[in-house]
Amino acid sequence: MERMKELIALLNRYAKEYYELDNPTVSDMEYDALYYELVELEKEYGTLPDSPTHRIGGAPLKEFIPYKHKLKLYSLDKAKGDEELEAYFLRLEKMLGFIPEMTVEHKFDGLTLSITYKGGELVTASTRGDGTTGETVTAQVKTIRSVPLTIPYKGEIEIQGEGLMRLSSLRKYNETASVPLKNARNGVAGAIRNLDPKITAKRNLDFVAYNVGYCSENIFNSQTEVHDFLIKNGFLCDDVFSVVNTVDEAKKAINKIEENRQNLDFLIDGAVLKVNKLNLREELGFTEKFPRWALAYKFEAEEVTTLLKDVVWQVSRTRKLNPLAVLEPVELMGVTVKRATLNNFSDIQKKGIKLNSRVFIRRSNDVIPEITGLAELTPESKDINKPEVCPACGAPVKEEGAFLYCTNPEKCAPAIVATLDHFAQKSCMDIDGFSEKTAELLYNEFGIKYPYQLYDLKPEDLMKLDGFKQKKAQNLINGIEKSKEVTLDRFIFALGIPTIGKKTATQLADAFGSIEKLKTATAEELCKLDDFGGVMAENVVKFFSEQENTEQIEKLFERGVKVINTENKEGIFSGKNVVLTGSLSHYTRSVAADLIKKNGGKVSDSVSKSVNLVIAGEAAGSKLEKARKLGTEIWDEAKFVEMLSKTGN
Ligand code: NAD
Repeated sequence: MERMKELIALLNRYAKEYYELDNPTVSDMEYDALYYELVELEKEYGTLPDSPTHRIGGAPLKEFIPYKHKLKLYSLDKAKGDEELEAYFLRLEKMLGFIPEMTVEHKFDGLTLSITYKGGELVTASTRGDGTTGETVTAQVKTIRSVPLTIPYKGEIEIQGEGLMRLSSLRKYNETASVPLKNARNGVAGAIRNLDPKITAKRNLDFVAYNVGYCSENIFNSQTEVHDFLIKNGFLCDDVFSVVNTVDEAKKAINKIEENRQNLDFLIDGAVLKVNKLNLREELGFTEKFPRWALAYKFEAEEVTTLLKDVVWQVSRTRKLNPLAVLEPVELMGVTVKRATLNNFSDIQKKGIKLNSRVFIRRSNDVIPEITGLAELTPESKDINKPEVCPACGAPVKEEGAFLYCTNPEKCAPAIVATLDHFAQKSCMDIDGFSEKTAELLYNEFGIKYPYQLYDLKPEDLMKLDGFKQKKAQNLINGIEKSKEVTLDRFIFALGIPTIGKKTATQLADAFGSIEKLKTATAEELCKLDDFGGVMAENVVKFFSEQENTEQIEKLFERGVKVINTENKEGIFSGKNVVLTGSLSHYTRSVAADLIKKNGGKVSDSVSKSVNLVIAGEAAGSKLEKARKLGTEIWDEAKFVEMLSKTGN
């Protein structure tokens, strides 16, 4: 009983922060764990008054005009994993005597909205609130561009759906926000439940419609018909909408949604399954809190909270000081997270993050976890200090925009090691057998600071290094030797010009064709390139105007580095813009791309009208299809290999 009371108090506090204040202090995962602990206890000991298991959402805010829903808006029953999904299908089968046809959709993670139209015009919009009474937010919802102000249907109808903030809009908003939003869900909830519609408009929200509530006419027989109706009436609808007949089909549809989760520009936290036929829904009915005819299948949470124990400042290749958060280890998406990125000092300040505070951590599949905001301060919380000197070498730190830089003119150890490591990387000089550890050893043991010095190394030098025997030393020497012949794009990327990444290096190589031409490029010329901003242009011009850099390039050339220029290059691919697709067996992708460049061609990522040739390996998909549609010349791998063999490659 004591634990139940404790859980109820905690859950009610969290629900108030989440539903009413739009300022959660725990993640959904932590909330759900406590909620289901209470559900289990209630099964044994019954329900206590004020239990959240018998309540929908939160109370409407007093500042808004209350809106009484014509039909109650419910929550959804939840399931996690195959077992709970199978149990739900069994329950349905037991109630109906058969497994009904089900629809599968995204479970959007935003704010529930109900919009009423009369005579084809939008008359009111409201939040779900406690399911019976919501908040009137008509002016706010009218600012959402994907909400139609008029619809062809003339009866009285309530359209239900989710207000969303796209992840791209969230990123853009947070770039300039004085207080960044913790996540897209808070972004949309805070923007709509705000008395000033101008604030709503600024957040660039969307509305996805998925249900019809009250309707003055009896015109629907199924969810499929509702979905079609919504599309015909101009609503933005889920493009994932499938109908399944068995639990296995449901699992497949859910898996497909989960696999694509990371590619979406909006948050989802699962999939929603609904009995398709409305007459069957009537038979199944509702519990106090949710319809028996629908289920939310929840995915693994992407967000959790944990304690921020420390912030260490790491020096990058460009001497930038990057803050790295040291966390109380926490499980997230099957991985123990111990570290997370923070962007810069002003971001730390804007988010109000302090040492020994609890913070929200978000992780998307292949991205390093990020601290998205403050969850809660603790009595031990204290300010994070801005470093005044470089933590690696003690040189003073200077501020440039939002970032801090080490001012050591000689570059300090971590920056040197990172520079050597970058130079040797696969997409730069591609030195086989080189690693960050090698860079560290070479710097510590021989004081090697500049990439050109790698070309002076001898096997006997390397054999003096820890862990290097004859074979390993010789392999690395061979790797260094082999790297001497390099395509222009790789060479430009290897130079490590600040803000010039792999893609922009390729752009520069394509546009200028040789290092000599690039050296003399002006900022105006550079700015004409697609997506090339003023800062990038200035960085390129500045890099080549510094004597030290041009001397370094000369020293590389003196040691035999030979850049394969692409300008006026004669070869079987000259003048050709080539796309590689499918899997190749004779060459790796990067070797194939290099061979095309060495033989005068350009390599692009996507098929468009400006592409002249597509080389399609095994299992090529949409790019090959597009090439066929456009009538682009297509070679298979055998032809590619044959043509290259004629050139001696
Ligand atoms: P819910 O949000 O899990 O599910 C119901 C809602 O799903 C509906 O109101 C609807 O808006 C939405 N939905 C999304 N896509 C849909 C679709 N295609 N079809 C139909 N509906 C769709 O349930 P709930 O009761 O609103 O909220 C409970 C959840 O909120 C919990 O699981 C918890 O994670 C979270 N919560 C978190 C905190 C916190 O402090 N972090 C506090 C309270 C609640």
